[in-house]
Amino acid sequence: MRPVARSDRDALVVLLELTEQLTNGRRLEDSLQTVTDAALRLLPGDHASIRLLDASHHELLVGARSGEGRQQKPMTFRRGEGLIGWVVEHAEGIIVDDVHEDPRFLPDRTPNRQQGFHIRSLLAEPLWSAGSVIGVLSVSSPEAGRFTLDHQLLARLLANCSTPPIERARLGRLAMTDDLTLAYNQRYLAPRLHEEMERSRRTGGPLSMLLMDLDHFKRVNDHFGHATGDAVLRIFADRVRSVVRRIDVFIRRGGEEFTLIMPSTTRANAQATAERIRINLSEQPVDISHDDVLTQTVSIGVATWDGEETLQSFQQRADMAMYRAKELGRNQSVVA
Ligand code: GH3
Ligand code: MG
Ligand code: MG
Repeated sequence: MRPVARSDRDALVVLLELTEQLTNGRRLEDSLQTVTDAALRLLPGDHASIRLLDASHHELLVGARSGEGRQQKPMTFRRGEGLIGWVVEHAEGIIVDDVHEDPRFLPDRTPNRQQGFHIRSLLAEPLWSAGSVIGVLSVSSPEAGRFTLDHQLLARLLANCSTPPIERARLGRLAMTDDLTLAYNQRYLAPRLHEEMERSRRTGGPLSMLLMDLDHFKRVNDHFGHATGDAVLRIFADRVRSVVRRIDVFIRRGGEEFTLIMPSTTRANAQATAERIRINLSEQPVDISHDDVLTQTVSIGVATWDGEETLQSFQQRADMAMYRAKELGRNQSVVA
């Protein structure tokens, strides 16, 4: 059996630990995960999730999940859709003893997909910030009638003490995000690189970086217009995200220049990733309108931290390697 708080004291300890962990200035994803983990320690469910409203206030994006089925691709909900969407729309928590008897329940009908966990009863609470609902915390159980009014109070307390630090982390993230590409912006580069160098020094693990600069990008703007240039930047960002790992940190350094910080990555693996990115871009033309495509290429400098050099020197080596790639005729990657 999973540990569920058995007494008031156990519950207080879980909440106390949670508030301590959330004051540590964690990253948004880590904060959210801390909350869903705590939900499963407090409440008798086997799956917990937090979904946050996106900028349009219509889509509920999955922030974190704990317990059964967290490896599976999550279902998506819009405001007003399913039980979760109902909670947002009505700004009201719910306890459902048997979801199959509740007309608001939206079963997963996606063909060939397993949700990965069974839901019979469900408890969901809105997350409040500055007078509006910003998301939903939910816990489900494969057994019917698993949640009581006491559980609901506990979930409400959990939601209330989690939301301020979550909001803080979310606003911090927004200030570090580039609107066009949704990559991190340049403000995030030095602090994160510094953090990763510290980690590498501590663990002795390798650390690599890519510096990517789109080739002849000025021509794209000149021939097709700035809006098309913007679209190409967005497509490039999507392509990069599709071939790198979750732990890689993708940053728009400015204009058409991007950095990828690659923790725990050797020189050889970094070079392999650089080539994947380069080939993915050059071999699949970019659709810019109904009947027009263009082929965009990228030059990439690859550098691996030598364990001693400064942040500036590390970046400079990646820069030099990228300029070398330009000199060699562009559409290539060069290792520093
Ligand atoms: P090279 O292969 O040598 O890198 O050539 P380039 O044309 O890419 O280099 P250059 O640095 O001269 O031009 C970069 C261009 O990127 C110029 C600028 O108009 C364009 N650019 C920078 N930021 C944006 C943006 O946010 N949107 C669009 N559409 N264009 C941008
Ligand atoms: Mg440039
Ligand atoms: Mg360029």
